Amino acid sequence: MPAIYTLRALEQFTCTGAECPLSCCTRGWSIQVDAATLAKWRSLPEPDVRERLLDSAISTHDKGKQFFVLKHAGDGRCVHLTEAGLCGVQARFGHESIPATCQEYPRATFQPESLQLKTAFLSCPELVRLVLQDSGHDPFVVAEDGLSDADRSERARLGDSVNAIVNRLLSMREAALNLRVYALATVVAELDAYLGRAGGNLSGAVTLIEKAFEGAGARVSRLQQLQRKGKYKHNKALAGCFWRLTYAIAHRGPGSDLVPEIPGLSALCAGAVESDADERQRDIKVYRTVVRQYQAVSAQTRTALDTLLEQYLRVKFVNHGFPYALHQDDHVATFLDCVVPYVLLQVLLGWQAVEQGGDGLADVALTIAKVETVLGIHNAKVFPQIEKHPELRPLEQSLGSLVELC
Ligand code: SF4
Repeated sequence: MPAIYTLRALEQFTCTGAECPLSCCTRGWSIQVDAATLAKWRSLPEPDVRERLLDSAISTHDKGKQFFVLKHAGDGRCVHLTEAGLCGVQARFGHESIPATCQEYPRATFQPESLQLKTAFLSCPELVRLVLQDSGHDPFVVAEDGLSDADRSERARLGDSVNAIVNRLLSMREAALNLRVYALATVVAELDAYLGRAGGNLSGAVTLIEKAFEGAGARVSRLQQLQRKGKYKHNKALAGCFWRLTYAIAHRGPGSDLVPEIPGLSALCAGAVESDADERQRDIKVYRTVVRQYQAVSAQTRTALDTLLEQYLRVKFVNHGFPYALHQDDHVATFLDCVVPYVLLQVLLGWQAVEQGGDGLADVALTIAKVETVLGIHNAKVFPQIEKHPELRPLEQSLGSLVELC
């Protein structure tokens, strides 16, 4: 019986319907109309209503299998969304008559490795608002599986020990969140190097992570000292490359207009996913722009953002089944899948705070939901870029600038 992780925010969640600033019914998503829903629609007694509903389910094929998806209007709105911003099918026939996906969203159930997750997609602004409201508390209730260490597989033990160090490092609030995330990146890099050398010796990997857990305080203090003395050296071009790719991932493809553009950075990063001859100089400029922009954010706002983004990251790591699930045994890719949206949010939210004045924190939940929407379910946009840009993978290099931005 795997341990069950349940997202606390789900207990309080109620869809805000017509009040939602980013309704899931307007985003052009491909929503499957499941067989049970089609059967309900086919059994409706009024022929014209029945035909209208069945007409809204378009037949399509994938890998030789036929299925049906909901029709959209040209602007991405579901054809059943009324002028009042409510679901017409739900209003007339009840919640049980809408497709299972619509009934479920934003709730999501996954079973990565030795876990069972009852969680939610962070693309729903109301759900994110509830998650952030709970900042400072563990966002998940965990029902232990009752297995002893001896009964657990080595793979499950490694997962447990990695989860423990994620929680330990993220909890060290005496250090800035960027520094905690970087400290975690160094642990992931060590794990990856060890597994590469040791040919997947999981028991040695558990020992390595347990030692890292014991030395977590010293690891963070060491980084803090280097940072305070300005002695932390990193490759500015590579750091800039990381920021540029992160920014470009969000500003390309469907939905990218949801994520606000930062004027100076947008100009530098335009068309930036492909390389060009002056890449190094451009990346150094990107790096300097990010540092300048980050330094414009007040210390008070940065601290408040740290608290909110820490909570976001906690849910993100669990949702992505870190260290294993999203990209199987590729710990680095799964880690980057969580951290790329985090660094992007940091730049966007910092910029919004400076632009809007005040504490700039009013729209954090909405900005997170927008970024999650643009990156796609399971960050579908991020992984292809990680594969295409191996320079992102040496985490100690590519994420080095996080130590400076504290
Ligand atoms: S995004 Fe969330 S709150 Fe908004 S309409 Fe969809 S389920 Fe409701």
